Amino acid sequence: MTKSEHIFQEACQVMPGGVNSPVRAYRAVGLTPRFIDHAKGAYIYDIDGNSYIDYVGSWGPMILGHAREEVVEAVCEAARRGTSYGAPTCAEVEIAEMINEAVSCSEMVRLVNSGTEAVMSAIRAARGYTGRDYIVKFEGCYHGHSDGLLVKGGSGLLTENVPDSAGVPAAFVEKTLVAKYNDADSVSGLFDAYPGKIAAVIVEPVAANMGIVPPKPGFLEALRSLTKDHGALLIFDEVITGFRLGWGGASQWFGVTPDMVTLGKIIGGGMPMAAYCGRKEIMSMVSPSGPVYQAGTLSGNPAAVAAGLATLKILRKHQDEIYPAVDHAAKALEQAYTAAIEKYHIPASVNRTGSLLSIFFTNRPVESYDDAVSADLNMFKRYFAGMLSQGIYLAPSQFEAVFVGYAHGPQEIEKTKAAIDTVLGSLAPDRDKEA
Ligand SMILES: *Cc1c(COP(=O)(O)O)cnc(C)c1O
Repeated sequence: MTKSEHIFQEACQVMPGGVNSPVRAYRAVGLTPRFIDHAKGAYIYDIDGNSYIDYVGSWGPMILGHAREEVVEAVCEAARRGTSYGAPTCAEVEIAEMINEAVSCSEMVRLVNSGTEAVMSAIRAARGYTGRDYIVKFEGCYHGHSDGLLVKGGSGLLTENVPDSAGVPAAFVEKTLVAKYNDADSVSGLFDAYPGKIAAVIVEPVAANMGIVPPKPGFLEALRSLTKDHGALLIFDEVITGFRLGWGGASQWFGVTPDMVTLGKIIGGGMPMAAYCGRKEIMSMVSPSGPVYQAGTLSGNPAAVAAGLATLKILRKHQDEIYPAVDHAAKALEQAYTAAIEKYHIPASVNRTGSLLSIFFTNRPVESYDDAVSADLNMFKRYFAGMLSQGIYLAPSQFEAVFVGYAHGPQEIEKTKAAIDTVLGSLAPDRDKEA
């Protein structure tokens, strides 16, 4: 028995499923999670002494790689001054100004502790601002685990096959309307059915929690004009795409300006921090300047803000080098997948936007939630196990992304390309017949 297997048994006695967040438990791939000892750059090391090239990157935050010196230093320096004050600091003003500079619609920012909290609060502000109750979300998009959003929620929920969560009263999701991703007509249908009642449409501008599903040309533009025409707000949930698809995130990448944006993952530099932001007249609704209550004992925590600031400063300063580099590295992986799929006649397709990509084990191009869930999960399982044994650490679910970062250099990319060829080769249908 490995050390990870041993401690996982113990963990299962004291924590539900042995973990503090469901997808970590490796249930979808039928394996035991690796317990991590440490990580550095592109590599993650488990307690059994195995090292892997890490494409999870803590599920998105580690775009600069693990334990980046400037970030670690900033956290240590902040911690030495005290880990929390519950009072304002200069660093919070600095990071808010930086977010305003980067995010097109942002004039004011509120820092919170997780993406879940950011989205939950943004929706409260949108409802307060519009005086309307309904919100529209999309099938397969994940916006954190707050009650009202646990409807067709993607990733962990898809993998675990729980369509809705137990413990959420039906009344709590009554005001949540669900539309189809990449289908603007499904949204206009809802606006027609609920005239004057929809406060906001919230969308992952690149769906990244049902695997990567990029928006079709015109989809985000249609959401922009529909919301505008009907007096509703457009919220981009950029918890994954923010500071990843370039310094200006998805709104810059696609040239569509929403009313509000939620951020997380990268902006905390690996520490628990997130934010919601938007136009001044909307954000002014938030307490204490307005009537929408929202608070947090540890919000704007000095160590978390220090990690976020250090990360954003590096991204800003080297944006012309970092973003093209991660894009280039991800493209090389995309090409390796595509080549192996053709070579070995694998029923699979690849989607990519910038440094985010996914392979789906399905015949059809994946442009919607229905396409994504047509994937063969058993095939994914075999692929995942193969990659792990080749030293490649991927998210243990068909419905997640490969997160490419700046620490993935030519050597790591070459090794990963070779693993892709080997593992997809082992999945070739003709090979099964011979066996
Ligand atoms: C991860 C994620 C969230 C939730 O963030 P947490 O920090 O896990 O609460 C919300 N929205 C999107 C798009 C995410 O990927």
